[in-house]
Amino acid sequence: MTQWVYSFGAGRNEGRADMRNLLGGKGANLAEMASIGLPVPPGFTVTTEVCTWYYQNNETYPADLEDQVKAGLARIEEAVGNKFGDHRKPLLVSVRSGARVSMPGMMDTVLNLGLNDATVEGLVVASGDARFAWDSYRRFIQMYGSVVLGVDHHRFEEIIENEKLDTGKTEDTELTAQEWHRVVDGYKEMVREVTGKPFPQDPWDQLWGAVGAVFGSWQNQRAITYRRLHDIPAEWGTAVNVQAMVFGNMGEDCATGVCFTRDPSTGENIFYGEYLINAQGEDVVAGIRTPQPMAESRAKPGERSMETVMPNAYAELVKVRETLERHYTDMQDIEFTVQSNKLYMLQTRNGKRTAAASLKIAVDMAQEGLIDHAEAVKRVNPAALDQLLHPTLDPKAPRKLLAKGLPASPGAASGVVVFSADEAEARAQKGESVILVRIETSPEDIHGMHAAKGILTTRGGMTSHAAVVARGMGRPCVAGCGGVSVDYNNQVLSSGGVQIRGGEVLTIDGGTGEVYVGSVAMVEPQLSGDFSTLMGWADKVRRLKVRANAETPLDAETARKFGAEGIGLCRTEHMFFDPERIGAVRQMIMAETESGRRTALARLLPFQRQDFVDLFRIMAGLPVTIRLLDPPLHEFLPHSDFEIAEVAQSLGTDTETMKRRAQELSEANPMLGHRGCRLGIAFPEIYEMQARAIFEAACQIGKETHKAPHPEIMIPLVATKRELEITRAQVDRIAQEVFAETKYHVEYSVGTMIELPRAALTADAIADSADFFSFGTNDLTQTTFGLSRDDAGKFLPLYVEKGIFPKDPFVSIDPDGVGELVKIAAEKGRRVKSDLKLGICGEHGGDPSSIHFCESVGLDYVSCSPYRVPVARLAAAQAAMAGGGDRTA
Ligand code: PEP
Ligand code: MG
Repeated sequence: MTQWVYSFGAGRNEGRADMRNLLGGKGANLAEMASIGLPVPPGFTVTTEVCTWYYQNNETYPADLEDQVKAGLARIEEAVGNKFGDHRKPLLVSVRSGARVSMPGMMDTVLNLGLNDATVEGLVVASGDARFAWDSYRRFIQMYGSVVLGVDHHRFEEIIENEKLDTGKTEDTELTAQEWHRVVDGYKEMVREVTGKPFPQDPWDQLWGAVGAVFGSWQNQRAITYRRLHDIPAEWGTAVNVQAMVFGNMGEDCATGVCFTRDPSTGENIFYGEYLINAQGEDVVAGIRTPQPMAESRAKPGERSMETVMPNAYAELVKVRETLERHYTDMQDIEFTVQSNKLYMLQTRNGKRTAAASLKIAVDMAQEGLIDHAEAVKRVNPAALDQLLHPTLDPKAPRKLLAKGLPASPGAASGVVVFSADEAEARAQKGESVILVRIETSPEDIHGMHAAKGILTTRGGMTSHAAVVARGMGRPCVAGCGGVSVDYNNQVLSSGGVQIRGGEVLTIDGGTGEVYVGSVAMVEPQLSGDFSTLMGWADKVRRLKVRANAETPLDAETARKFGAEGIGLCRTEHMFFDPERIGAVRQMIMAETESGRRTALARLLPFQRQDFVDLFRIMAGLPVTIRLLDPPLHEFLPHSDFEIAEVAQSLGTDTETMKRRAQELSEANPMLGHRGCRLGIAFPEIYEMQARAIFEAACQIGKETHKAPHPEIMIPLVATKRELEITRAQVDRIAQEVFAETKYHVEYSVGTMIELPRAALTADAIADSADFFSFGTNDLTQTTFGLSRDDAGKFLPLYVEKGIFPKDPFVSIDPDGVGELVKIAAEKGRRVKSDLKLGICGEHGGDPSSIHFCESVGLDYVSCSPYRVPVARLAAAQAAMAGGGDRTA
């Protein structure tokens, strides 16, 4: 015989907290609370298996269910001393749904079930309060009528309103027993009219009606949608909990409340919550009366805390709070009722909390000895940590939404709108906060992005230039905000009929993608002691090293401050846009001959050398991976006629020549064009200069500090072994030259980005010439999907919304396609060279689920923007504890 019904309370607890799959969260925890001696009204749970059976068998029940329900009910009757349907001492029950995870959208609760025209009289006598009894009956008809019989709840409200009009009363609380009685009569008449049937008087029919409604609600549209959005399988089903009623609305010594065992917004270790005297559960949520605080220390003038009003019940509840926290070792969200000064527990579950609270609670609980350090590390969501490192909008501050784009870089910022990088810089120098608004950004905008407090673009996805650079700099950014149009000429942006001119104020929230008119109040991040405590615990358990993508001294310093263990990607092209250098870069591009290019590169060399000196000094012996030039050359040329004329003049050439050269360099698909190692092969002098700058800097620092850095030189966009052989030979030659010239020697490695499918598939051949691989999963995602990272913003959100892509593949690594290539390359590479160092430097290096993937394939390190380093440290620790899955490399 299958057990379909599990009893709890009154000494018979057949369930446990770990039986939530069978009993649902609510049922499992009611049984658990009862079994640890907490006061839980007796009841029983109809299992989720009944729900599954119900749907597999044409919405019918197992034959032996009825007897088991009867037995369950009999146990409640015995425990309480009342009988279901008895005219003198009627048992009333609540019926609640309860899936494995709490699921809004399903039928929630029917209270006071068992009342009818006869039992209501019994309740009048038993409670000694006719008004209470008739109010309970009308509440029951109302709840049952709307959730089980599907009667529009306005029809009930109408009847109450009419009763109030007729009697000249304004509040529900003023209605008398007789008046509620009349309301009940009105309800019953109305229900008969709407449903064509009388309101069910038989408690047994009422019970099956409610049970059927719970199971039915599992397949209603809201529940289906919620499950789809949260990946909840339909097979899970819901359980139904039937429990003896206790009344919080039977007088001034009764109450009901909802609370958290710690403050869910700050994490502070205080009893936090609200209660209402003489009220039933739904009154607290309905907001008709103002709930009062639990603790006296939290009471404002005029408020009556439970601590003072009901000291005994409160003291008992404080003990329950301790018991629950010790038992569940987590912050609990609880519901309780006090009936005639006696406390009853109706629910407990792990409480939802803010990012800040989650950090504080985890660290506090470990320090209180409730959990160990490893458990504390598991408790904090790395994505939540990201929020804590940036200013955020004050949740209480008023705001006016203008548009919504992609949440490209977390944090919030307010400032005056500017439409060009130069203006951003100029106004920032005068001390103004600015928001740089661009259709899209390009490397020329870097100075403006740096000067801005926040960046808004109307085009581009999560790995667009704006998104990547903003994350790297720790600037909030909303990208791909298609609902906003930008008119550079008239210096105005507009969205949905609202216009914002240059100089007017705008606020962006890079954590949500929202854009607001005017300024919105912020809260500053608190990098408290808890943060570094937790990070320390995470570092003890992680295996993956965490490096940062950084090129400027500021980025490198930030990276170290956040705990980076090296630089995993220094994009050297970012060093070329400085006003002092761009002239030489353009001179190099415009040169018609190799010797012309060499002259220009010689101008760049000292700058580039100094860049590396600075980086090596800051990183003090930690590994530094430097990538040689990657982007196509035309990215460095000016665009507007005005700029072209200006640059032409400064280079001593004419506008026409300049335009012709730009024309020659322009490409239909620049991302697949003359870039990466293809540049280094066509113009070897570029990579030679960069290699020379690196080795000269390394030798200089080595001599100065007697601790030689170990540069890792990385060749981008390699597709074939031959490309790496050629570029590597150049680097090796320059190394020998510099060592001979400086009479100094440093150890170095040469490796490659794996960012093209062909490189991944032929990684064994490539590994022959490589000391390390760094997976450039931005380009690898782009080339594996055939999906432009700069244009995808137009349709990618639609793809994610429709579930065609489970997640944006530029944000979270696509394990089946891109990930498979990473796995293949790691395997093939290590087969040839067992000590081949493997890392990832695409944006995925800072994404927690991608980090789990990296752990599973056995990479050595992840590299991400400096501000995401703490997120990566925590995610790497969690991945290590999760076991890393199927490690194949
Ligand atoms: C990559 O392609 O993943 C990468 C790190 O390089 P970039 O983003 O500079 O192309
Ligand atoms: Mg790349």
